[in-house]
Amino acid sequence: REEEDLDSLNKRVAELDPKSSTPPENFVDLPLSTPTQDGLSASHFKTLTTIQSRTIPLAIQGLDILGAAKTGSGKTLAFLVPVLENLYRKRWTEYDGLGALILSPTRELAIQIFEVLRKVGRNHTFSAGLVIGGKSLQEERERLGRMNILVATPGRMLQHMDQTADLDIGNLQILVLDEADRIMDMGFKQTIDALVDHLPAERQTLLFSATQTKKVSDLARLSLKEPEFVSVHEAA
Ligand code: ADP
Ligand code: MG
Repeated sequence: REEEDLDSLNKRVAELDPKSSTPPENFVDLPLSTPTQDGLSASHFKTLTTIQSRTIPLAIQGLDILGAAKTGSGKTLAFLVPVLENLYRKRWTEYDGLGALILSPTRELAIQIFEVLRKVGRNHTFSAGLVIGGKSLQEERERLGRMNILVATPGRMLQHMDQTADLDIGNLQILVLDEADRIMDMGFKQTIDALVDHLPAERQTLLFSATQTKKVSDLARLSLKEPEFVSVHEAA
């Protein structure tokens, strides 16, 4: 029964035309798992924002994305929905280790992302953790090994990768860089380079920013493979 559901979901995703001239309006129009659909509707998300309707269809098909849209346009769900869906369709379980890493420039933004993930992802069985410092490395480390999805600040995550010998990131499927412009403005370029060096090359990368700058395209060049560029401008 469940097998059948996953097969039909996979089929609907494969048949999706992400460049369709009629982009999806409502989340229920998208081929999303029941746990995600239920989490979205329980959180009162019904209609997609523009950046969501332009990126989610591409991202759930596994493509790399470089997405730009101003603050407040709904970029968080544009990456959280694909993270949940892509791990779900890979039948990710607690035994598969870290499947997705979401990097955010500041602790406050990381906490906000984590809260949306907890709300929208509440019907999934994934474990999720925050890695933003404030606790001892040892304390964070003990929980890290059991997590499927981590929301982290770059500096703290790199510290773990350098110092936590048994941190297994070899299975990572999805890397998200949120607020890539701010990550660059805050001087995290080298940290991101070092982090990306630790990650499997065979993975999906979703990069989002509020602005399109040269710095963001430099970061994109290093971390994305033939990305789909999605830029949402305000109507003039
Ligand atoms: P950004 O990261 O682009 O600045 P957020 O993801 O933080 O934007 O979303 C901004 C606000 O819009 C949040 O309050 C969020 O709950 C709300 N929001 C996001 N997507 C939707 C949606 N599809 N429907 C209604 N509200 C949404
Ligand atoms: Mg944001």
